[in-house]
Amino acid sequence: KSVALVAHDNMKRDLAEWVDWNWEVLLKHHLICTGTTGKMVERTLRDRRGKEFDEEAVDIVLLKSGPLGGDQQLGAMIAEGKVEAVIFFWDPMQAQPHDVDVKALLRLRRCTTCPRRSTVRRPIS
Ligand code: PGA
Repeated sequence: KSVALVAHDNMKRDLAEWVDWNWEVLLKHHLICTGTTGKMVERTLRDRRGKEFDEEAVDIVLLKSGPLGGDQQLGAMIAEGKVEAVIFFWDPMQAQPHDVDVKALLRLRRCTTCPRRSTVRRPIS
């Protein structure tokens, strides 16, 4: 499946821990990430696999950084049916400069928002 991963800055650490916890499952999917989140996801997967890390085994696309258009790119992909699941570790406690883009994403049906890591267990299983 095509799975999008996005995390606001205050939530990136949580997402990194979640990716580390679910790395085997995630490697079976095509991953799509906003820019900064994607670099962190790649780094986490690399650290997890260590010497066994095979660049080719990670099927990941990095969009632009969220505030610089990445959320809009992702929204377009969802609207075109190119993304099957969105896991968004969003920060409800901090205003985002690109709030309208975030809201547009949250409005789309396939979006799972994750203010807590525990809420992501069901979609991944
Ligand atoms: P980022 O964007 O991954 O480039 O930080 C996330 C977001 O949409 O805020």
